[in-house]
Amino acid sequence: MSSGHITDINSFLVGDIFVTLLRSSQTLSIAVLRSTSIFLNNVSHASINATIMKSARTTAKVIGQLLAILPTHPSPESLQLSFLWNGGYVKVRSTIQGTTDSTERVVTISTTRSMIEPINPEPTFIWLRDDINADDFTEIKGGQSTWQVSADTLQAACDLLWAKAVDMKSPLNSFSSVSPSDPKNFPYRLADGTPAVISTEASALLAASEGAHITVCPLCEASVSDMCCHVGMHILRAMTNTPENMSLKEPVGAVLPCGFCGHSGMPQCAITITVQGDAVPAWEMKCIYKHIFRYGSAVIGSKNTPSRNVPVKCELCHPTLPGRTSRKVQAISVDAVWRYNLTEHILTDHDEYVVPGHRETRVALPSGVLATMAFLELEQKATHVPKERWLTSYDHTEKENIPASTSRPSKRPALNSANSMPIKRAHTSVQVLHTSSTLPELL
Ligand SMILES: [Zn+2]
Ligand SMILES: [Zn+2]
Ligand SMILES: [Zn+2]
Repeated sequence: MSSGHITDINSFLVGDIFVTLLRSSQTLSIAVLRSTSIFLNNVSHASINATIMKSARTTAKVIGQLLAILPTHPSPESLQLSFLWNGGYVKVRSTIQGTTDSTERVVTISTTRSMIEPINPEPTFIWLRDDINADDFTEIKGGQSTWQVSADTLQAACDLLWAKAVDMKSPLNSFSSVSPSDPKNFPYRLADGTPAVISTEASALLAASEGAHITVCPLCEASVSDMCCHVGMHILRAMTNTPENMSLKEPVGAVLPCGFCGHSGMPQCAITITVQGDAVPAWEMKCIYKHIFRYGSAVIGSKNTPSRNVPVKCELCHPTLPGRTSRKVQAISVDAVWRYNLTEHILTDHDEYVVPGHRETRVALPSGVLATMAFLELEQKATHVPKERWLTSYDHTEKENIPASTSRPSKRPALNSANSMPIKRAHTSVQVLHTSSTLPELL
């Protein structure tokens, strides 16, 4: 081992640290991993020669666990920004099948030779540092030592790996995508919360293309760059008996169709969602047609992507508790419902509620749920649904933006009439009625 560094530069060992690039929503960023197994031409090795690993003749593959690293708070004089391992790992949360419980597991990534850069972190001691908060390093076991790597080194590796990916014409969706249970842990962040050590070029491409790649739609065989929107429109046509322009190779699934492939009942299309405070929800599924998209814009819909079929959390299955303090509530991933399937979901799973146009004389749905179920003119027009078959719309702008001078009676007499206190303080009487909107307000 060379003095002052952790890694032997001539060979790559199980346990060594390396970096690669990973996706997380619209960011392609550096990821620091500790290798847990090394395969050379499919044979497991405890170590391999660094030159052999880099040789194009071998198919080396390294499996590693994603490490949690934290930035230093450099003084204005030094300006040297480094990242220190805090002894922990980046984890994802997954629901236990058939329950609302979930478990956390460490993110494990399999990386091919070309997308690996070994790095040589420097040992350091927590107690010698005045540029970190020692409380963030409680996961360091058995003492005070960890290692650090400079931000410059990580950025150089990031740029090098991205250049290689461009050379090899690797599509953006060939990078593994990570949605950590705590979004603060990955992509690695600076002290102010902005993502650190990213490929700005790749991230701009991701944002522009929304990770899109051309896919052949299994229903109509068209080449499509945005399956979520395209299949959403097939689903909307099926819901309204609106004829397709061409005959479909396969019809849209009859029961709760998947928003990416339009099929029903495929186990890989089960979808979970994590909603935390006002953050954009993170969702997870394994449908082979899935792709990332900008949740915030898809919720609103636009001329180019009119379908607003996105995974949502059913507020009847998973109500947001009143009086929550959004920062402290632990985000758990729960089964999600595609927005266009919400009506069907409520009809089958929430027997006690009115569903406009389907079922009357029950309990009224909370306004947030109605708003989530509603269809806009935009999407129905774009899908060429004949006007007489338009699905219910719920004009929540009318309810939320009543002009102050209105002479109409308040739409919320039950909540407001008893007193003139600000709504925030009238929390005792509003528990059930005041189920908040399914979607975060700040999208
Ligand atoms: Zn299609
Ligand atoms: Zn699917
Ligand atoms: Zn539900």
